[in-house]
Amino acid sequence: MHVVVCIKQVPDSAQIRVHPVTNTIMRQGVPTIINPYDLFALEEALRLRDAHGGEVTVLTMGPPMAEDSLRKALTYGADRAILLTDRHFAGSDTLATSFALSQAIAKIGETFGAPDIVFTGKQTIDGDTAQVGPGIAKRLDLLQLTYVSKIASIDLEAREIKVDRRSEGGTQMLHGRLPCLITMLEGTNEIRRGSLDDALRAARSPIVKWSAADAGIEDLSKCGLRGSPTVVKRVFAPTARVEKAEQITTADKGLIDLADELIVEIFARQPALEQELAFDASA
Ligand SMILES: Cc1cc2nc3c(=O)[nH]c(=O)nc-3n(C[C@H](O)[C@H](O)[C@H](O)COP(=O)(O)OP(=O)(O)OC[C@H]3O[C@@H](n4cnc5c(N)ncnc54)[C@H](O)[C@@H]3O)c2cc1C
Repeated sequence: MHVVVCIKQVPDSAQIRVHPVTNTIMRQGVPTIINPYDLFALEEALRLRDAHGGEVTVLTMGPPMAEDSLRKALTYGADRAILLTDRHFAGSDTLATSFALSQAIAKIGETFGAPDIVFTGKQTIDGDTAQVGPGIAKRLDLLQLTYVSKIASIDLEAREIKVDRRSEGGTQMLHGRLPCLITMLEGTNEIRRGSLDDALRAARSPIVKWSAADAGIEDLSKCGLRGSPTVVKRVFAPTARVEKAEQITTADKGLIDLADELIVEIFARQPALEQELAFDASA
C-alpha cells in the first residue's frame, strides 16, 4: 500500500515572533521540530506499511529549512520525502496550504502510485486550525475520517477501512472505503526510535524538492498570499489576568452559608448575570 503523510515543521517553543506589518510568522532563529501531532500520523502510517507492505511518503510544504524535518521522518523509517518549496507559497493561509498540498499529493499519485491513505495530524501547534486535513480531502474528493484514535482494520482487497473516531461524549466506529484521508489524534501510539539502518539511509537519501511548477500547479493565484483570503487584522499576546484565585476554607462556615455568600459576591460583580438567570427561570 502507498501511504502519504503530511508533516509540518513548527517552532519548538512559544517564542513565535510575528511580523509587525504583515502579521506573518517570522521563523528565523526559532528552533523547529516536526509538529508533534504529525508524529502520531507518521507512526500509524509506518505500522500499516510494516503490516501490509508498500511505501510511506512524507510531504511537507515549507521553506528550504523544512528539509530537516523530512530527514528526521526518514530516520523514523519513511521511504520517501518530498519538500514542496517555492517563494510563491510564502504567506499561505489554510486555503492556499491545502490547495498546494492537494496538488502535490495528486502529483505524488501520478509519479509514485496513487495513495491508499493520506494522513495528517489532528492540528498543528502553531497555526492550530485543524483545517488543512479536511481541506485536502475536499479538494482531492477523498473520504475524510477526522479525529481518528485507532485504525481497527484494513482490507486492501475489498478497499475497506474501519476506524475509531473520538466524538463528543464517546467513540464512533466508522466503516469507510479506501482511498481516504485520516486526521490522527494525539496519544494514539508512540513514535518509534528508528533503526541504525534507517538513520544511515536517511543521511544518504535525497530529499525530492518540488517547486510549484514541479507539483503541476498552474494557477499561482491560488498560492501564497495571493491565494489566501484570510486577513490577520491583529496579533497579540493575551494580557495576564490581574485577579488572583482566592482559596476559601469551609472550616468555620457550613457549605450552604458559603455558597450563599459566593452567589451574593458573584452577582455583585456581574449584575447582568442575576437578571439573565432570573429571566431564564421565569421563561
Ligand atoms: C493570512 C495568513 C498568513 C499566514 N502567513 C504565514 C507565513 O507567512 N508563514 C507561515 O509559516 N505561516 C503563515 N500562516 C500560517 C499558515 O497559514 C498555517 O500555518 C498553515 O495554513 C497551516 O495551518 P495550520 O498550521 O493551522 O494547520 P492545521 O490545519 O492545524 O494542520 C493540520 C495538519 O495538516 C498538515 N499540515 C498543515 N500544514 C502543513 C504544511 N505546511 N505541510 C505539510 N502538512 C501540513 C499537518 O499534518 C497538520 O497536522 C499564515 C496564516 C494566515 C491566516
